[in-house]
Amino acid sequence: MPGDKTAKGMDFNAYDEMAPRSPDKTPAELRNGGRVKSQAATPSGVYLPNNNIQTPDMRSPEYVQMSTAAAITLGIMAGKMYRCECTRCLNLLLTYPEGCRANCAYCGLARHREADRDYADRNFIRVDWPSVPVAEIIEKVAADGENTPFHRMCISMITHPNSDADTVSVLKAWTDRIDPKTVPVSILSNPTTMQRDDVATLHGLGADIFTVALDAATPTLFDRTRGKGVQSPHTWKKYWEILNDARDIFGKEKFGAHLIVGMGETEHDVLSVVQDLRDMGGHSHMFCFFPEKGSLMDHLPATPRDQWRRVQMARYLIDYCNVRLEHMSFDEHGRVSDFGLPKAELDGIIDTGLPFRTSGCPGKFQEDISACDRPYGDSPPSDIASFPFQPNKTDIRKVRRQMGFPKTVN
Ligand code: SF4
Repeated sequence: MPGDKTAKGMDFNAYDEMAPRSPDKTPAELRNGGRVKSQAATPSGVYLPNNNIQTPDMRSPEYVQMSTAAAITLGIMAGKMYRCECTRCLNLLLTYPEGCRANCAYCGLARHREADRDYADRNFIRVDWPSVPVAEIIEKVAADGENTPFHRMCISMITHPNSDADTVSVLKAWTDRIDPKTVPVSILSNPTTMQRDDVATLHGLGADIFTVALDAATPTLFDRTRGKGVQSPHTWKKYWEILNDARDIFGKEKFGAHLIVGMGETEHDVLSVVQDLRDMGGHSHMFCFFPEKGSLMDHLPATPRDQWRRVQMARYLIDYCNVRLEHMSFDEHGRVSDFGLPKAELDGIIDTGLPFRTSGCPGKFQEDISACDRPYGDSPPSDIASFPFQPNKTDIRKVRRQMGFPKTVN
């Protein structure tokens, strides 16, 4: 099944090819949000990211940022999304002039960008994130009642000393006005600043699902992209500690981990984590590596589509079809060479299109359809990696070509 696709004769992003560049030094006066804090411009209402004007001094819990897709869905930003009416997940991101204090190599929010761009103006998963007063968001969603387009809300913590307390404040403000049964809440946590008690507090306040953005699939890759390798504070050990706390406190089907595919791990590496998460009772939420502009990996290739499709397919089989990693076969590069099911069964599953949709926390349609559709967060619309909508027959034909998996003709 694997084929030779890249200039280097490979159809996967190998570890040796995926080294991040080193972060530049930031002048002292620009560190910790220096430019924004020295001007201290008072915010007023919604702030749309704009690198050419003075960024106001906005701070959670009064302010959060939201994805472009959520802002369009709420009518805060004008615009249309390719083949999507709306997003089903209201993704919110804590915000501070100091920004995220970590330095993950693939992330547009990373600390090394301080000199280049104020925090609220940075791109993240390929889009802008407008800053909006939390009270205004809650008013708008509450006004729609049961008719809200959102199937889920998600609070993304960042690495900042205030993010634990502010996540609690945002969650409380939300659940005071909006029934978590109408719009359940996910927490995309920041394990580095958290203790087990923090996980329990969020559960006690009505959060539905707790996730950990593990992102890198092996300890070595984690350290290279999120830890010592890029002067960043995260550790593999702490991330797993909080993931285990989440399993204990939130319980089966109510926790998960984000994984980015194509940063230098093998397909076997990432699918081993998928299987471990499934054995623990949780789910994996997959992202296709895309070289985010301004990040320390922006010079590297996006994940070849056949690597990505194989992992998407295998992850779906493990998470929803009772196939186990041990049923699959892998070649000498760790690439999936057999999915462990008869071809006719695989054909039926591919034709549903479900393995190729964005994966994440579920919405109200069905367990294996994510509310969190993150339109074009991991690819341009011209070459979709995660489909934020139900793929049609033409899309599925393209996916089959990318996987090198033609349909059996009876
Ligand atoms: S998959 Fe879940 S935790 Fe991750 S961003 Fe989406 S809603 Fe949040």
